[in-house]
Amino acid sequence: MTIAFRPQIKDLQAYKPGKPVKDVKKEYGLDRVIKLASNENPLGCSEKAKQAIQDALDHLNIYPDGNTTDLKEAIATKFNVKTTQVLPSSGSDEMVDQISKTFIQEGDEVIMADITFPRYISTCKMMGGVPVVVPLKNHTYDLDGMKEKITDKTRLIWLCNPNNPTGTMFTKDVLDEFLQSVPKDIVVIYDEAYQEYVTREDYPKDSLAYLPDYPNLIIMRTFSKAYGLAALRVGYTVASEEIIEHINKIRGPFNVNTLAQVAAIAALGDEEFLQRSYDVNKEGKRYLYKVFQELNLEFAPSETNHILVDVKKDAQEIFVELQKRGVIVRPIYGTFIRVSIGTMEENITFVEKLQEVL
Ligand SMILES: *Cc1c(COP(=O)(O)O)cnc(C)c1O
Repeated sequence: MTIAFRPQIKDLQAYKPGKPVKDVKKEYGLDRVIKLASNENPLGCSEKAKQAIQDALDHLNIYPDGNTTDLKEAIATKFNVKTTQVLPSSGSDEMVDQISKTFIQEGDEVIMADITFPRYISTCKMMGGVPVVVPLKNHTYDLDGMKEKITDKTRLIWLCNPNNPTGTMFTKDVLDEFLQSVPKDIVVIYDEAYQEYVTREDYPKDSLAYLPDYPNLIIMRTFSKAYGLAALRVGYTVASEEIIEHINKIRGPFNVNTLAQVAAIAALGDEEFLQRSYDVNKEGKRYLYKVFQELNLEFAPSETNHILVDVKKDAQEIFVELQKRGVIVRPIYGTFIRVSIGTMEENITFVEKLQEVL
């Protein structure tokens, strides 16, 4: 007798996170290791969020508010949408999973880019969907190419803007035209995990303004990046009431924990921290661009907190050599590594070690 596993999960691979700092320290006998591998906020998080967590510590015996009432209200008020259009989740990660579970039936086609956030494809396969993968052009989403792949089997389309791991963005004009051309029974998910970092004026800054015209649109945001709350696992989705109602049916009853809820509310109210995150990132980006240009290394123009750079040598090798020297980055493919923008001090250390390695 053998145990039967669903065939859909047979070829899936478990997510391999980067090595934690403490493991790298131990392995190479290093005192100091900097991690520029996971697009984390180098400034930490809002002090207000920490205080909110402190205040909540006396109530750990109580289940979280399963309806995330206060958090929904804070989001709805800040961004001028209805509370019934908002759904917090345990990170955007969980939401990707929930969206796939809500919509994908065996054989449905799901259009996505390559390379982009890996959860889009894994959750598609998990549900028995058929991923239709459209290569990036110049490290940027090819929305025309994605449009051409639409068939009567298309169920979902994933957009990530700006994109991870390339950092590139597409403009408001491009998004306008794309949304207009997609049939309204196909759900378009717009993942803007890095939108708080965008500097360009032609970015679709107010994505929520599309919702009244596009009931097939789902917008995903997270507290993990610019808000610096990655450890707590909290993000939120905004869409039509009908879509939110359906996703809500498959949600775990207490998926967003109490500390995450109170911290997210406090973080939303700390504009100053967000501004500082933006400023430090912009300055770090400018510095790294300058260095890459001096070193004759090509990079993709980034609107995020990370840069995809061509180190002209095997990325895996460079990754290992940097790690030995106490800097963790992410090898992406071929000769490309992704480096998260850190504090200026971290950026300078990264550059020193990179020059050494190259
Ligand atoms: C980091 C990231 C997220 C957010 O992940 P969380 O689960 O909220 O931490 C979502 N989408 C993309 C593209 C990301 O890079």
